[in-house]
Amino acid sequence: MTDRAGPPGISFQDLLDEDLREQSGRPGLALCQAWQGLGLADIRGDSVERLLEIGIEDAALEVRFLLQHVLQPDSLNLALHDPALVSWQRVAHFADLLTARLNRKPLSQILGSQPFWTLDLAVTPDVLTPRADTEALVEAVLARLGDEEAQILDLGTGSGAILLALLNERPALRGLGVDLSSAALAVAGQNAARTGLSERADFIEGRWGAALESGRFDILVSNPPYITREVLAGLEPEVRDHEPTIALDGGSDGLEAYRDIIADIPRLLVPGGLFALEIGYDQASSVRALTAAAGLVDIEVICDLGGNDRVVLGHNPR
Ligand code: GLN
Repeated sequence: MTDRAGPPGISFQDLLDEDLREQSGRPGLALCQAWQGLGLADIRGDSVERLLEIGIEDAALEVRFLLQHVLQPDSLNLALHDPALVSWQRVAHFADLLTARLNRKPLSQILGSQPFWTLDLAVTPDVLTPRADTEALVEAVLARLGDEEAQILDLGTGSGAILLALLNERPALRGLGVDLSSAALAVAGQNAARTGLSERADFIEGRWGAALESGRFDILVSNPPYITREVLAGLEPEVRDHEPTIALDGGSDGLEAYRDIIADIPRLLVPGGLFALEIGYDQASSVRALTAAAGLVDIEVICDLGGNDRVVLGHNPR
């Protein structure tokens, strides 16, 4: 802090002494002890160091997001310049959140939301956190879509990210999201409400397209689980230990979900209908081959912004 008089440090005495028994289960208690008497700027610096120490590269940015989350509605800058605004309760809350992050809980799950395309979506441990890579699929579909009415199907919708991003861009689109997980569907429904798209989005529980009638959809999209079981075990703890395995595990060769989905695409889509599937960076040729074997046509592979193959798309024959 630059304040000449020196900032008043934050006192956690209430938390540390009076209520210690009741509060001892509080995850951030050890941090509160370490931060006793420090001002917000020092607490912030210490937090960044702790995240850097465990290898979290965007430490400064993450600490900023976490502080902003607990200081709402006051901004971080205001709080740094007027320490009186910062109650020990808020910092204790921050200590709980930082402790979760130090335990490698994904930032999106701690904050409870994640930006995706033009939307800000609710995220829980029941859904895959929407990834920037997946925006390549949204962009590719939008580039092939006019303003006409159309029905879109999202298989394994999770948070609803792909479906809702598309519906939000095209007012004449209506959509159905399918997921095997009822917990994920609850999040998708919440996201439809939060983005004002509930009237055009339906969600049902099911295994890929199994329960759906034929020829009903103009567009089919999916970001299925595609990580091989072997690779999954070696992923960073944020993904491996905190995101739903059902949304990641593509079986022994990473292609199990594609086999099920692709076998059903010719039946589910109208003649000439568009499909777009997210893929892993090394799966373009296998997934392309599966789509060709199913009789699908005009097959293209699209890269994400990192230059990796990320989407296989094409059409049902006319
Ligand atoms: N892209 C995600 C990851 O690498 C995986 C998404 C998926 O399996 N559909 O963590």
